[in-house]
Amino acid sequence: MRLADLLHDLQEVDARLDGTRRSLELIRHQLGDRSSLDSPTHDLARAREALHQVETAERDLELQADSRRAKMVADEKKLYSGTVTNPKELGSLSDEVNLEKRALDRTETRLLELLEERDESTRRVANLRAALDQQTKAWNEAQTHAAERAEELQAAVSSLQERRDALASQVDAPTRSTYDALRRQKGGIAVAGVLQRTCQSCHVGLTPAIEQRARMGAELVHCHSCGRILYVPIN
Ligand SMILES: [Zn+2]
Repeated sequence: MRLADLLHDLQEVDARLDGTRRSLELIRHQLGDRSSLDSPTHDLARAREALHQVETAERDLELQADSRRAKMVADEKKLYSGTVTNPKELGSLSDEVNLEKRALDRTETRLLELLEERDESTRRVANLRAALDQQTKAWNEAQTHAAERAEELQAAVSSLQERRDALASQVDAPTRSTYDALRRQKGGIAVAGVLQRTCQSCHVGLTPAIEQRARMGAELVHCHSCGRILYVPIN
């Protein structure tokens, strides 16, 4: 195997290793990230708070209606009991009963409105609860899937790393550092293929002599334009 073939294979493994590591990194970011549930959780909490407020208002108003009703009954009793005989006093008592009746009517109307509001709020809470349950279920499934995928990717990284080490061990140390440095400097591409006597990375034409030396592949031959190691595939 020519040195260039070895480096070309090494680069392929390195590229796959980089890609697999990136995928693993992305998956790991997803693991445990509950931020997609923040908004539905918040919506449900707000709806529950609204329902709680309606219920409280309803209870307060029920108490108010009860005491109004009690006062009205007492005043009516007084009005028709015959204990009050003074016409002026009777008149004002009667006026008061009428006022109480109207106030009670208003309270009861408001209570009916609150009943409707409570029904609506209860429905809204139930709907949001169901939506959150659904989303939580989907989230859990996605997490399980992501954890499985992370394991697969981790296994792939290990096996690629082994392959990489085996290939790299066949390359002498100075060549390996040249290759590593070029990969870092040249966007991950240290080895450039040659096609029709042209460097496939920078698309600059090569001299026949350079191409010939690269084809032999016994030594490192660099592209005179981009500096990458040239690799001429053997058909
Ligand atoms: Zn080039």
